[in-house]
Amino acid sequence: MKNRILAGLLAALLMVVCILAIPAPAASAQEAATEETAAEPETTETPEPTLPPVSTEKPTVPEISDPLPDVDIHSWEFTLCNSYNSRGWITCQRGNLEGIGIDERIQEAAATLMADARAAGYSIYVARAYLNTEWLENMYLTTLWVCNYDPVLTARSFQGPGVSEHQTGLAIDFTDTIGHAANYEYQFEDPEIFDSELYAWLMEHCADYGFIFRYPAEKAPWYGVSCPHAHFRYVGVEAAKFMVEHDLCLEEFISLYDPDAVYVPDNGRLA
Ligand SMILES: [Zn+2]
Repeated sequence: MKNRILAGLLAALLMVVCILAIPAPAASAQEAATEETAAEPETTETPEPTLPPVSTEKPTVPEISDPLPDVDIHSWEFTLCNSYNSRGWITCQRGNLEGIGIDERIQEAAATLMADARAAGYSIYVARAYLNTEWLENMYLTTLWVCNYDPVLTARSFQGPGVSEHQTGLAIDFTDTIGHAANYEYQFEDPEIFDSELYAWLMEHCADYGFIFRYPAEKAPWYGVSCPHAHFRYVGVEAAKFMVEHDLCLEEFISLYDPDAVYVPDNGRLA
């Protein structure tokens, strides 16, 4: 994440430098003629800033003809938390998954998923699960500093206290490399996880254990910022299977029951 932000800032800085380096228009015809005879300056391609993707329009609730699962969307499994929907201070029911905090109500499902993945021959570790508010506040301040105190860029780069699903203890970032799990500031957020065999297995089987992949890029208008890593969220088996079968994100699923339960800004943008 930090590397990505730094890369974005560097690209933006290069753009500013390039803009400043553009010569002012010639003040007279003579000067213009002089410029024409001057050696052609070397042209270099200006790098595009690599800001995280943001939504551009307000999404609409999909039409689903199949009967909806008989679930209570106000139950804990459907706790909604994204860049548009802050939960404030969330108290996680602390469980433990291989030494990392997690809501105890999903501990068994997560442990079974990991055991089955290993039985199928995959390496799987928890890179990040429950995060407390203090950790998120510190990380938010660090990101704010990296983003030169630009609150919009910061919000696009990091889901901080109140809007991080990790506060619920219902989300897990999986990884296939122990080093990624041991140092979660390092490379587990590397998008190469999306090319891994583990990720393919998780996408195929996660719903069997009640998990969904969260914040896919194509649904970003619903939550403002897509997810750069293998972030899976527990919603229960019945709901997870329905969401996967109908290609729904959690926000769409909840909206099918109660459109007012999901806030999306009118302009469909984070800020
Ligand atoms: Zn995550």
